[in-house]
Amino acid sequence: MVVDMAKKDMYVRLLDTVLDRVAKSVTKSGDRELVLRPVLIHGGRNVILSNLKQIAEALNREPEHIARFMLKETGRAGAVEEDRLVIQGRITPEEVRRLIELYVKEFVKCPICGGIDTRLVSEKKFRFVVCEVCGAKNPVRKI
Ligand SMILES: [Zn+2]
Repeated sequence: MVVDMAKKDMYVRLLDTVLDRVAKSVTKSGDRELVLRPVLIHGGRNVILSNLKQIAEALNREPEHIARFMLKETGRAGAVEEDRLVIQGRITPEEVRRLIELYVKEFVKCPICGGIDTRLVSEKKFRFVVCEVCGAKNPVRKI
């Protein structure tokens, strides 16, 4: 397989300073940069990730999949309610950003070319990240 090193320029950036957009895209010929900003609302005993759906759409993943990952990684209870993820207990914005970074690394980013335009595909018992850029197909764990 031919790997185009220029594609390594594609990456996902997580910021807490960009307020006006969830994703900005398309600079040139397939290069794409995503800016994700998790928006958290701190309740009494919960933390609500209020833009789960936008993050999921930007990453082309199911909100429930991202939610399962976050809850499993943190060992916390929680649930998807409409477009939001309600997490029981305390969680800091930094932890949430780190979780999304880990999710992107494991379930979005192509390990071959670094592209982020990928699909999650189920085949029998197995799950794969299929890259739209280079066509690579890499197995991922089921969550
Ligand atoms: Zn790729």
